[in-house]
Amino acid sequence: MAVFDHPEFDDHEQVVFASDPVAGLRAIIAIHNTNLGPAVGGCRIWPYASEADAIEDALRLSKGMTLKSSISGLAFGGGKAVVIADSRTDKTPELFRALGDVIERLGGAYVTAEDVGTSPQDLEIVRTRTRHVAGIAEGGAGDPSPVTAFGVFVGIKAAVRRKLERDDLMGVRVAVQGLGHVGYAVAHHLADAGAKLVVADINRDRVERAVEEIGAQAADAAEIHKADVDVFCPCALGAILNERTIPELKAQIVAGSANNQLETATDGERLMRRGVLYAPDYVINAGGIINIAMEGASYDPAKAYDQVGRIEGTLMEIFDRADRDGIATAAAADELARARYLGTAAAAD
Ligand code: NAD
Repeated sequence: MAVFDHPEFDDHEQVVFASDPVAGLRAIIAIHNTNLGPAVGGCRIWPYASEADAIEDALRLSKGMTLKSSISGLAFGGGKAVVIADSRTDKTPELFRALGDVIERLGGAYVTAEDVGTSPQDLEIVRTRTRHVAGIAEGGAGDPSPVTAFGVFVGIKAAVRRKLERDDLMGVRVAVQGLGHVGYAVAHHLADAGAKLVVADINRDRVERAVEEIGAQAADAAEIHKADVDVFCPCALGAILNERTIPELKAQIVAGSANNQLETATDGERLMRRGVLYAPDYVINAGGIINIAMEGASYDPAKAYDQVGRIEGTLMEIFDRADRDGIATAAAADELARARYLGTAAAAD
């Protein structure tokens, strides 16, 4: 499996393969870039079908973290750890201690956090072997989901202001796909602001709760992207915006928390051609990492939320740049983010 010639390889600074047969650890840590600071990014535990899949995920996700921290103005680089294991059956204290030892050996170049398959409790064990762990309750900012949801809410308001030219959400129709930790909280914010909600989740209990608690209308999970709404808010899986789904959108805005919403880079242009305003995923869902950046002895949640509120200004800058240059918002975000971490002049344009 080639790494340097891999399509997702983007001059990553370091890719580490770690193994501890006694602890059952097989992990890949990708450090994409540390120009702006330590490579911060979560640890994903997933039963990858092949080593190649794990490498691809580590390369892609670590680069995404560099872009996210860079565009958010944080002093972080981007990295990611992937552990090839099943989080339902393979998690043991030994595994997390072994992972902590690997991270410790990297000397602070990589700082880990929660991601799919890991919990704050798991990270507490990692923390017994290395201090390079972020986003845990003790001495940290805790669960990132509520603050991520707040950032998504702020971002939806910014997109509505730009596309629909209105300052409130009263009666604005929003379709929320996925009512998990982030999606449910976003739906709550939206309902409180007077939006009309259509929701879908493959978990029926979550849909029923949204119908009862916040008066949402239920939709089929396979059809929610086609809902007759103003805003489509993907908060479930990646690659939801693609050749098949984009022509079916009725919404004029796409703004949600899911990572990697575009299946391919050309889907950003596809949205633009259709007249849909897309709030780039790694910009609107950066609340969690912005919160982590505020961690430390003087952590103040009010200040952290204030900082997350700046997602609005970042999105407006991206929308302006995309308009000015006639490019997709996703491309405008990439340009701005790359210019900052590469220290090139485009950032000042
Ligand atoms: P979660 O697992 O709590 O929620 C995901 C929800 O989506 C679940 O309720 C699940 O049942 C539902 N779902 C799965 N497949 C679906 C489908 N096909 N149709 C409809 N619903 C479906 O995850 P989360 O923490 O809420 O994260 C949601 C998204 O936001 C993910 O893409 C995640 O990577 C991204 N994200 C989360 C955070 C955070 O702070 N948690 C930060 C940045 C990005």
